[in-house]
Amino acid sequence: MHPSTHAIHTGENFHQETGAVIPPIYMTSTFSHGNSGGFDYTRSGNPSFTNLEKTLAALEKAKYATVFGSGMAAITAVLSTLKSGDLILAEENIYGCTYRIIDQVFEKFGLKVEYYDFTDEKNFSKIIEKKPALVWIESPTNPLLKIIDIEEISKITKKSGSTLVIDNTFASPALQNPLDLGADISLSSSTKYINGHSDALGGVVCTNSKEWNEKMIFAQKAIGLQPSPFDCFLISRGVKTLEVRMKKHCENALKIAEFLEKQSWVKWVKYPFLKSHPQYELAKKQMKGGSGIITAELNIPFDNILRFLKNLKLFTLAESLGGIESLVDHPASMTHASIPKIEREKVGITDGLIRFSIGIEHSEDLMGDIEDAISPLM
Ligand SMILES: *Cc1c(COP(=O)(O)O)cnc(C)c1O
Repeated sequence: MHPSTHAIHTGENFHQETGAVIPPIYMTSTFSHGNSGGFDYTRSGNPSFTNLEKTLAALEKAKYATVFGSGMAAITAVLSTLKSGDLILAEENIYGCTYRIIDQVFEKFGLKVEYYDFTDEKNFSKIIEKKPALVWIESPTNPLLKIIDIEEISKITKKSGSTLVIDNTFASPALQNPLDLGADISLSSSTKYINGHSDALGGVVCTNSKEWNEKMIFAQKAIGLQPSPFDCFLISRGVKTLEVRMKKHCENALKIAEFLEKQSWVKWVKYPFLKSHPQYELAKKQMKGGSGIITAELNIPFDNILRFLKNLKLFTLAESLGGIESLVDHPASMTHASIPKIEREKVGITDGLIRFSIGIEHSEDLMGDIEDAISPLM
């Protein structure tokens, strides 16, 4: 079956008795002992989790999926499998909270991390040299939208015996399947595109490895990283329209990226499917669409950037991304404020940078909103 069919029909298995077309929400903390589903206590599994896990495994083309209470809970689950002294090599432009959990939580327990620019294939030699336990990649990265060659890096991690983790949040399984490209783990915040409606938090870890799947099920119950059945129900509902939403996000974002590129007040625009993107060819090869995030550096004084952000009416100034509604973010003071300024600027997250999450409204209305917000400042 194709992904759009999987999104609607895979994971709908709990309706035999009532005929309910949509499975109920299993709001129960515990289960009577000896039931045929093998459920015992919701911290270690619930039919609402199972429904969503089946759908997400099918979309990620994975044998196994384990759902968690948030993207950060999924990240915690993976990191919790490591031990003191283990080394992670991470892409230098990772999500601010991933940086923070390693820096402020796991480093206290002896985990080691080194950051590299993995768009530069010269740095792949570090993986062979250092044989890290994990290589941690996002592609596209947040917020600079760098594209990392997953297939190439997976050849290297296979040689070094390292586990390759891809944070697939920005592309979503509708646009990119990291496991097909050779990754060991594809992890996502399902809070973003997978749910798509900004009304629930969730995370998922997908893998073809039985051993990694067992580690994830253990982490879910042993650390208490499980989601709520209600949120799983919402995410199961949201993901049914993932493919149509992503088509519209991609179409709108490309139009708006091309529009921004023509503006005198914009210094540069990054969008994976713009010809000017440094890894445009790779993006085209690796992804089915450019997704809905655009990053731009503005040419106007800092005070005017803040005014511009406040003038926008259809774009809400907010953290998060991947919902049907358009948002705008100022990474240096919002999503990436947890990264020290020096580190932030070293990787290119300057004060003039803004990140748009393009929703599925009409693109002309979105461009009109941008024009109306900037014109009083010019
Ligand atoms: C939002 C996000 C996360 C964290 O997910 P939450 O659901 O907010 O905990 C992880 N990685 C990326 C790339 C994200 O954008």
